[in-house]
Amino acid sequence: MADISLTPVPRGQLVVDEGYLFEDVGLATASTPEPSHERVRCPVYNVVVEHPDATILWDTGSHPDAADGHWPAAMHDAFTHEDLHPLSEDLDAAGYDIADVDAVVQSHLHLDHAGGLASFAGTDVPVYVHREEFAFAYVSAKTDAGDAAYLAADFDHELDWRLVTGERTTPFPDVELVHLPGHSPGLLATVLHRADDTVILAGDVGFVDENVTERRPMDGSLLWNKQAWFDSLDRLADLRRRHGATVLTGHDPDAPDRLESL
Ligand SMILES: [Zn+2]
Repeated sequence: MADISLTPVPRGQLVVDEGYLFEDVGLATASTPEPSHERVRCPVYNVVVEHPDATILWDTGSHPDAADGHWPAAMHDAFTHEDLHPLSEDLDAAGYDIADVDAVVQSHLHLDHAGGLASFAGTDVPVYVHREEFAFAYVSAKTDAGDAAYLAADFDHELDWRLVTGERTTPFPDVELVHLPGHSPGLLATVLHRADDTVILAGDVGFVDENVTERRPMDGSLLWNKQAWFDSLDRLADLRRRHGATVLTGHDPDAPDRLESL
């Protein structure tokens, strides 16, 4: 087991209708004929994974101009991003420099996860992403098909892509990338086998923890394939059991603090 330390990098917050978090929010019943909706604040965060062989950056957050036209207006109206900064600034606040990063792992390429990739354009920093995510991101961004949550301006750069194929790969000792599709076609969970514990950066397999722990689906607009998502929950639960792992989801309000305490 490798000596791996984790540093959360806060990247601002998304303010979203809780109906996006859970598909059953807002449904009227006989006892609650007029249910209320609230908008909730959910963190966007990246993680610096200090591994003996490399300093790895997990995800790159949102583009700093997300609120100023980089994101389509309708997208930002629904997923309002507050406290936006360039990746370099947020890394600096966490004690790191862009130049410290030896490798990037992208859980997927949605616009709140891939917006800092431009920082690595023209460098030889390897960027790991699942092949199915890569293909779907381009189809989505360049045609009318696919999903509106992919912006070519985020990822269409000269990057040293390392496309992950199949179910899993181990880019560094004790660092496993596991394909858990559902939220998106190529969602990768990062499984870190540390000296004293195992941590799984599950990304948006769950927007928040209850999606995973209570098997409560997110809104349909956040599930590319619901059956694949349920299958991935089973595989994630198996990984958690087998390793006694701590699982962190993509935007859970407690995730950054939990990371800090690991
Ligand atoms: Zn996502």
